[in-house]
Amino acid sequence: MIDLKRFEVWFVTGSQSLYGTETLKKVAANSQRIAAALEAAAAVPVRVVFKPVLTTPDAIAQLCREANNAPHCIGLICWMHTFSPAKMWIAGLTSLRKPFVHLHTQANREIPWGAIDMNFMNLNQAAHGDREFGFICSRLRKNRAVVVGYYEDADVQAELGLWARAAAAWADAQGGRVARFGDNMREVAVTEGDKVEAQIRLGYSVSGYGVGDLVKIVNEVTDAETAALVKEYRATYKLGPGTQGDAGTQGLRTAAKLELGMRAFLTQGGFKAFTTTFEDLHGLEQLPGLAVQRLMASGFGFGAEGDWKTAALVRAMKVMAAGLKGGTSFMEDYTYHLVPGKMLVLGAHMLEVCPSIAAGKASLEIHPLGIGGKADPARLVFNVPAGAALNASLVDMGNRFRLIVNEVDCVKPAQPLPKLPVARALWAPRPDLKVAAAAWILAGGAHHTGFTQAFPAQCLEMFAEIASIEYIHIGADADLRQLKNELRWNEAAYAR
Ligand code: MN
Repeated sequence: MIDLKRFEVWFVTGSQSLYGTETLKKVAANSQRIAAALEAAAAVPVRVVFKPVLTTPDAIAQLCREANNAPHCIGLICWMHTFSPAKMWIAGLTSLRKPFVHLHTQANREIPWGAIDMNFMNLNQAAHGDREFGFICSRLRKNRAVVVGYYEDADVQAELGLWARAAAAWADAQGGRVARFGDNMREVAVTEGDKVEAQIRLGYSVSGYGVGDLVKIVNEVTDAETAALVKEYRATYKLGPGTQGDAGTQGLRTAAKLELGMRAFLTQGGFKAFTTTFEDLHGLEQLPGLAVQRLMASGFGFGAEGDWKTAALVRAMKVMAAGLKGGTSFMEDYTYHLVPGKMLVLGAHMLEVCPSIAAGKASLEIHPLGIGGKADPARLVFNVPAGAALNASLVDMGNRFRLIVNEVDCVKPAQPLPKLPVARALWAPRPDLKVAAAAWILAGGAHHTGFTQAFPAQCLEMFAEIASIEYIHIGADADLRQLKNELRWNEAAYAR
């Protein structure tokens, strides 16, 4: 469902006419070589398209206009091979509405000690050409990523790849649509927010639907389609408690009809994310559990209890994660293990955790659910592999959106959890639970999150920069005194 190769970034080189045609030919040749290397780099998930070297204000403005209007262009990689007087860039950058990354690199890795002369010096001046460009970007208050190093190096390509993923998620959100079946869970604060502001700031629209609109499509699902999907369930998962016998088959058929109906509704409506709420299930036989889990695995974003901000965030994170090892899911901090020195968070939800994060084959199970007052819902039960992960939360502070990210380390449960009928993840937050939870709570982070094991926090930081929203990072170096100051100072930085 998510194919990053349909996106392209344009490789843009700045220069000027001062150096003559011979030098500019070399500039173009070097730029083509670098663009080709990035296009071929496995770490860069999108197409990299070389654009002719820019030497005049008109050409720069024209290129930026074209980028704005090119549907598959998700941003620019800008590099000043030589000195490119940056007043030339004012008109173009002012009009540019696509994200950009400033790649501070060089065509040559080493100084050719024995051969270097003034011709070489004049050709290879990114060291100061990129500073001139950096000044005008800062002077224009343009948000951008800056990536420094030799273009063939793995760390440079990895950073460019993360930026491309953030830019792809941004492009995906522009004009994106989120469907809400029902409203927010009553009285819950953090899942509320300004949907108009979200559309202005983040690009996606959020629309509510009566659950009856969904029930209608679910009821149109045929028996043959249902039977085929139940067969797929039985072939794909371990068959756990509740799935056997006539009652088990009936439960799975109900879940399959729900999945087919929801998938049809979301696909036909062009939606990328959705929410449900257990308070509004009139006409549905089960709370959608398995259906939501499998829709997430297909690339849809999801937020429970009407949480549209988390639904859109999970979708953005799924775009960022496309093609990478490690899954991405809706998640909730559920309960704690508070043993000194070994404090852990058990993350889960009532049902809706994405099997993309499962360690091994998930177990398909049907159990009673106390909440919602419906038939026993089907769900996939699994653990999450050990390793680095992160939780992200987008909250509406009233005058701005704040993205909060906590780096965590998933661990294997020390003991089985035979009576827990839901998918679960177990993690130690960085730097530790005491500091991380205090920081999260001070920052106003939600109980709902987007969880991923696919990419590092830097990708979300780049996304926040593209979106021009506040970013709060809680990692190994988190310091509560510093964080309190950051939150206090950000009130001034974002005052309006
Ligand atoms: Mn919840």
